[in-house]
Amino acid sequence: MTALLEVENLSVAYGAIEAVRDVSFSVEEGQIVSLIGSNGAGKTTTLRTVSGLLRPKAGDIRFDGKSIANADAHEILERGVAHCPEGRRLFGRMTVEENLHLGAYVRKDAGVAKDMARVYELFPVLGQRRQQKAGLFSGGEQQMLAIGRAMMAKPRLLMLDEPSMGLSPIMTQRIFDTIKELQSQGTTILLVEQNALAALAQSDRGYVVDLGRTTLEGPGHDLLADPRVRAAYLGED
Ligand code: ATP
Repeated sequence: MTALLEVENLSVAYGAIEAVRDVSFSVEEGQIVSLIGSNGAGKTTTLRTVSGLLRPKAGDIRFDGKSIANADAHEILERGVAHCPEGRRLFGRMTVEENLHLGAYVRKDAGVAKDMARVYELFPVLGQRRQQKAGLFSGGEQQMLAIGRAMMAKPRLLMLDEPSMGLSPIMTQRIFDTIKELQSQGTTILLVEQNALAALAQSDRGYVVDLGRTTLEGPGHDLLADPRVRAAYLGED
């Protein structure tokens, strides 16, 4: 079986700074896959390169069997890869509904209204407040809206960068429940998280990124039980 996303020996640099040196991982259709690792390990850079915002220095990225390593961001989104960025990047002065419409801008099909209804079903608070400005929302609500906006592109692969950042434990759980729900509805998920415990517990597969390299990989539950992961990322001795 071909993986939906294959990243092979990826290197990415900002000028002289090599942020990603040799990252390889794959995401099978229907899976939740996590990249975990400490601050500055290169996870965000990897996602930004997959979505075409940065160019690889070396290595390849294949989506659905075809290289997207040199495709532009718009084309990658059209092919079915949506990116929910770190920090949410919403348009605070625009309403919920306007933010959601922006997520659908590459689509040419007639299903936008139906998918907006699906976002409101998943996140009723967004439906109740659809005419309110996004900037007035709490961190958790903004994260819901950011996920909803990415869903509006109707992606085959949804990439989420630090969705639990700054959220309470209850809201974090809510977001992870939603991620599971999206998976059960057929979306494949690539997750970047510093909250290794929550991420690995929900993931079919995980990869540890350390100083720009993938150093460990395995099923989420195996990595959670791995003493090296527990010591480095779960704060255990
Ligand atoms: P975080 O969770 O903090 O985002 P990360 O694992 O996602 O961490 P990256 O943000 O990808 O890591 O950063 C990897 C390395 O690249 C770090 O050393 C960082 O300082 C550097 N870096 C990131 N963005 C830039 C940039 N725009 N210019 C120069 N260096 C950068």
